[in-house]
Amino acid sequence: MNRLPVYNPASGALITKLPADDAASVAAKALRARAAQPGWAAVPLARRIACIQRFRTGVVAELPQLAAVMTQETGKPIGMSRNELNGLLGRIDFFLAEVASSTATQTVFSEGGMTEQIEHLPLGLVANISAWNYPWFVGANVFVPALLTGNAVLYKPSEYAAMTGLAIARLLHAAGVPSDVFVPLTGGGAVGAALLEQNIDGLFFTGSYATGAKIAQAIGPRRVKLQLELGGKDPTYVCDDANPQTAAASLADGAMYNTGQSCCSVERIYVHEAIYDAFVAAFVATVKTFPLGDPMLDSTYIGAITRAPQLDVLDAQVADAKAKGATLLLGGQRLPGPGHWYAPTVFAGVNHGMELMREESFGPLIGIQKVSDDAEAVRLMNDSRYGLTAGVYSPDETRARTLLAQLNAGSVYWNCCDRVSPRLPWSGYGDSGVGLTLSTYGIQTFTRPRAWHLRQP
Ligand code: NAD
Repeated sequence: MNRLPVYNPASGALITKLPADDAASVAAKALRARAAQPGWAAVPLARRIACIQRFRTGVVAELPQLAAVMTQETGKPIGMSRNELNGLLGRIDFFLAEVASSTATQTVFSEGGMTEQIEHLPLGLVANISAWNYPWFVGANVFVPALLTGNAVLYKPSEYAAMTGLAIARLLHAAGVPSDVFVPLTGGGAVGAALLEQNIDGLFFTGSYATGAKIAQAIGPRRVKLQLELGGKDPTYVCDDANPQTAAASLADGAMYNTGQSCCSVERIYVHEAIYDAFVAAFVATVKTFPLGDPMLDSTYIGAITRAPQLDVLDAQVADAKAKGATLLLGGQRLPGPGHWYAPTVFAGVNHGMELMREESFGPLIGIQKVSDDAEAVRLMNDSRYGLTAGVYSPDETRARTLLAQLNAGSVYWNCCDRVSPRLPWSGYGDSGVGLTLSTYGIQTFTRPRAWHLRQP
């Protein structure tokens, strides 16, 4: 049997070797899930809702242990692991409250003996290939609404969050979701690739642009619904009328939270020249207060880099920025092991000729660029192949709304950043992806609408 080794990125220690899937076990599981799906779709919605409510109760009962597992395998600071699990409860509550109304059959026309209705059927068998950085959030954005709407789910958690993936499966099964209806698959990219070859009705992916592009190619001409939630290079503009200290405190958190390993981390900052110096000083002062160290300690803010190869990406962006004349204000290098560590790094005087303003850093690295007016800020913020989120800091709502309306991003923020709400759709422009999760649209996306044309005799 294949084994997947799981390492603690903060210490480098081997935690466990999990039994892993291979192409044959993936195919067998897919067949069983396909066979089980109609039975699950026939279960009354109230009973599916009750299963997810019991799952929520199970998460609450084990929350400290689940947070510890996530921290051990990803290096996420323990307080942030607890935040993710507590935030998850609100997402589950949203789906539970909204699923009935957003999937009820709708009569959209009724006149002269003619009635038109929209019915929401489950897609069928959906696959979810997921990322490690927020394994509970990004997983639950898919499996909770997919299960509630009557789909069977083949769930491939990241190999860097595989223990969390198995905990999710254990809790769902204990809550009454049949083991062939929610099926975890353990392994890395090869197991994900094997999953793509199965007879599935939908593929919901969260991860990097590079993998998303491979998946889109593999799905190719097959009639499989495809959603891709990919990376970003999220910009923020701090206007001349903003408070530089308040904006710096908020954006330092937005750039460094989860050690910069968030899809919606602030990755580029543009500051009006009138307050640039004050902002940069306040930003660096804030980042210096972030304690780095053992992710199991409540006091830790900066944890480990989860994937070792990301250290090379950070090194390359730092070297490139230095070589092209950026001013290094803080950090700029790996920290000694064991484990994978990078010093929180702040550059000023950057420009778009530098990689750190163009490609996702996905670590505690940020560039701050001076701009002379709003038009320059908008032009630079839109000078990206990505478009996940973008923000503006200003006390002037009209000015902020005018600027935000011009930005190519799925989510826009006024005086806030690095924020996701279950009530709002989560989607990206350009190379940040296609499709969406969350909101009532993120429930309906797991359904296939059937159009009913009914004429009375
Ligand atoms: P990744 O692309 O390396 O891996 C994601 C998943 O794809 C993993 O489960 C992996 O095993 C699997 N995989 C790898 N190769 C595959 C292949 N050939 N076929 C099928 N599956 C394959 O990404 P990651 O490092 O886990 O996550 C980080 C990335 O995810 C960042 O770019 C981040 O911005 C992005 N992300 C986006 C969102 C969003 O909502 N837009 C949320 C979280 C993370």
